[in-house]
Amino acid sequence: VPLSRATLASLGPGVRVPAYDVARVRAGIVHLGLGGFHRAHMARYTHDLMEHDPDALAWGILGVGLMPGDRRMIDALAPQDALYTLVEREGADETVTVIGSLAGVAFAGETSAALLDAIDDPAIRIVSLTVTENGYCLDPATKRLNPDHPLIRADLSAPERPRSAIGVIVEALRRRRASGHAPFTPLTCDNIQHNGDVLRDAVVTLARLRDPCLADWIAAEVVFPSTMVDRITPVTAPADVAALAERHGLSDAWPVFSETFTQWVIEDRFPAGRPAWERVGAQFVADVAPYEFMKLRLLNGSHLAVSGLGRLAGTVTIDESMADPRIAAVMTALMDRETGPTVPPVPGIDLAAYKRTLVARFANPAIRDTVERVNTDAPLNVLVDPIRGRLEQGGRVEFLALALAAWLRRVRGEDERGGAIEVRHPMAALLREAAIAGGPDPRPLLGIRPLFGELGDDPRLVEPVAEWLGMLYGKGIQATLDEAARRAG
Ligand code: NAD
Repeated sequence: VPLSRATLASLGPGVRVPAYDVARVRAGIVHLGLGGFHRAHMARYTHDLMEHDPDALAWGILGVGLMPGDRRMIDALAPQDALYTLVEREGADETVTVIGSLAGVAFAGETSAALLDAIDDPAIRIVSLTVTENGYCLDPATKRLNPDHPLIRADLSAPERPRSAIGVIVEALRRRRASGHAPFTPLTCDNIQHNGDVLRDAVVTLARLRDPCLADWIAAEVVFPSTMVDRITPVTAPADVAALAERHGLSDAWPVFSETFTQWVIEDRFPAGRPAWERVGAQFVADVAPYEFMKLRLLNGSHLAVSGLGRLAGTVTIDESMADPRIAAVMTALMDRETGPTVPPVPGIDLAAYKRTLVARFANPAIRDTVERVNTDAPLNVLVDPIRGRLEQGGRVEFLALALAAWLRRVRGEDERGGAIEVRHPMAALLREAAIAGGPDPRPLLGIRPLFGELGDDPRLVEPVAEWLGMLYGKGIQATLDEAARRAG
């Protein structure tokens, strides 16, 4: 059965369908970056709320793709009336749910004209984002808007037809102000530390380059709550799509698969109003910082360590990497001895239990999240920041240095058997050049100031990284993992 409103009633008993009338869902939110994560996370919370509360039907989400490559997603969901299936897995158990919270989908990869018209509607009170860190057009060193970024340059020369997510928010806010309507609340759900502040700064900076009065108005009137988001959501695999169709007789062009764990901590500042997401498990707090700090240090740092080593060892998925007891031991030692000690206590969280849960989540074989996805998605700062923090505490960085050495080895773009490694990074060409120039010597890479700053000259980092990188080049990944496990033991 092809998924659509018309076929909802005929789906099999193994599929949960919305209890509310999906035809009554109206857009109150515009979401930029309709990828896998949003569909497994914020749209899931919103769907749950709609199940409980008819008022929530006014908080439907218009899901938008801003990049040319997003056309496929929009074309997949539009004929399904923006419905899709979310499969949540733990071990052999899975829950299959049709999510009805998308009020519609829109492709804005060629022109933002229709998107801006949609945001003009005062019923839109939140514009949310999951556009990856690249979508913010930042200078990687300062985390501030890069005015020379090609998308930003384009937006400055045609500000009323923006292409970047930041340009869309600035122009949409300008139009709100011009029409005398209250601003919406921009809500970032990307994995960036202090994500609300980073978004606010990028938006105000771009606005200031256009019109200082607009920038002042945004700074005074618009609130940018920070969030901490967590739910491992791999890229949808064709085999999973086929298995879903076979098992449930349900043909969905682009379902989403995720773990059962989910977490969303949101700074509670929504002058234009918000859905009561706390009724379905989200946590509204005055300050997100301690939660995001914990997550970036423990989850994201460990993720990049595991995916970097796993890629060099030739594993495809995170759980395969974790099935290597040496890599699992490195992850535990990394958290217990280096990243964990930099995390202050977090209200209501048992850090020891949180770390144990992470090991179990990464090892979950039902998720099949790829090392490729994590290597591409995780910003290098999830290692660099804890390195700085640990050194400031006067501690050693042995396992962080190993994780960093794996990263430096990987960006050479070639593994030890000569196989190609795809490196998607704004500085990929420079990284490859420096990796080849240095070989086992990390200094050409660590000397890239925008990435490493003063750490590139700090022997407390350079020496252990040189030791591991020398081992990776000289003895290979297997011998390096043996040695790492010995030290972790
Ligand atoms: P995805 O590849 O499925 O979707 C990414 C979306 O971002 C796409 O719509 C893409 O077009 C858009 N995008 C990428 N670069 C952009 C740019 N320069 N400008 C505008 N849009 C751009 O990835 P995903 O898994 O949905 O992840 C999206 C973000 O969600 C991640 O970067 C991360 O910050 C956050 N996140 C993901 C996970 C996860 O497990 N997948 C977990 C927590 C947080």
